Amino acid sequence: MEVCTTFVSDIIDMAPVIVLIVLILLIVFFIFYKRPQKKVILPGNFREILSEHISYYNRLDEKNKIRFEEKIKEFLSYVRIDGIDTTVEDLDKLLVAGSAVIPIFGFKNWKYDNLRNVLLYPASFNREEFLASGYEKNTLGMIGNGPMQRVMILSKPALRSGFANKESTANTGIHEFVHLLDKEDGEVDGLPEVLLNRKYNSKWIELMNKNIGMILQERSDISYYGATNKAEFFAVTSEYFFNLPGLFKENHPDLFELMCLIFNQDPTNL
Ligand SMILES: [Zn+2]
Repeated sequence: MEVCTTFVSDIIDMAPVIVLIVLILLIVFFIFYKRPQKKVILPGNFREILSEHISYYNRLDEKNKIRFEEKIKEFLSYVRIDGIDTTVEDLDKLLVAGSAVIPIFGFKNWKYDNLRNVLLYPASFNREEFLASGYEKNTLGMIGNGPMQRVMILSKPALRSGFANKESTANTGIHEFVHLLDKEDGEVDGLPEVLLNRKYNSKWIELMNKNIGMILQERSDISYYGATNKAEFFAVTSEYFFNLPGLFKENHPDLFELMCLIFNQDPTNL
């Protein structure tokens, strides 16, 4: 009887240790467990679609084209794309994924941890339906806040026209993904602290202020919307940087040089 009592009291003494071991095992499990990724099968003609619509893809060599395709597949494995009152065609999926991959193509293993769902709308949409404090009546794209965290909303025609016009500096898809990158450090403020080495911060802020001033004085070819604030300046100049890199480099060499550092790539020399 005495042996049994000792055994029970030993177990009781060890209870905190057992609880600790179980907790450690659970923590280790959650850290290392990887959810199986959804297998993505791209449409049979996906290379033709990419070549026809995404000029950035066409500027890549064969090896990088394959890397681009892999990144598109990876993106589509963790982000859902849904249409609201509109159909989502293969082209739309590839354009959304392309918009996502272009700004992060200079980084080896970038994943948009702050995105799960992209909603496509048939036209521009009323921002106030999504944001209680919205101030713009019609919007072509936006990233969600609060309950809409991890959701991006894009106008389908705006997404398509960003890639259709090869002479345009505008690209709504790239614009919204650059906002997401900007948001990585917690704030959408035009200063992508996760991407830019701290020593260039003051130079970047100085360049943004100078160029916003030039837009306001109508002495710049950067879209007037870029003068709204620094976050919009960063997103708008990124559209121009990726859509027409040669022209951007010629007209804005100082901005171009810093943006190559931010995105870790030179889009004139892919
Ligand atoms: Zn914006």
